Amino acid sequence: MNAVPPKLSRANPAWEFAAILLGAAAAGIATLVFLFNPATHHFYPVCQFHRLTGLNCPGCGMTRALYALLHGEVGTALQDNALFVIAIPAMLARGLWFATKKPAGRAAVVFFPTRWLWPLAIVALVFAVLRNLPAFAFLSPQ
Ligand SMILES: [Zn+2]
Repeated sequence: MNAVPPKLSRANPAWEFAAILLGAAAAGIATLVFLFNPATHHFYPVCQFHRLTGLNCPGCGMTRALYALLHGEVGTALQDNALFVIAIPAMLARGLWFATKKPAGRAAVVFFPTRWLWPLAIVALVFAVLRNLPAFAFLSPQ
């Protein structure tokens, strides 16, 4: 029996298309948020968790934080959503790592390994709990 191992293609057009689409969507969203302040324009989606409970979820304030970041106001962005501001460089670093690993012939590189899911979920949960406690009110968007 001649078992031939499957060939792994170096470039996957579907992944490249998805990456281009994701980049274009991110650029479009950043442009929209840059041009229209979420504090004064009310066409942005409202957090349903906050609307129903009055509590801040881990994502509350992300749009305002992005607006502040895009306008160079890092302090305001950190106040609106510190987790989001910290996650951006981490995601960019991961994206850069992913982009450099892929051409090296590692076709099976996963952008978001599943073993990261629980630790990140715990970080988000702890952040959500803390930002709703009076002692950590500085973590809540104003
Ligand atoms: Zn929320």
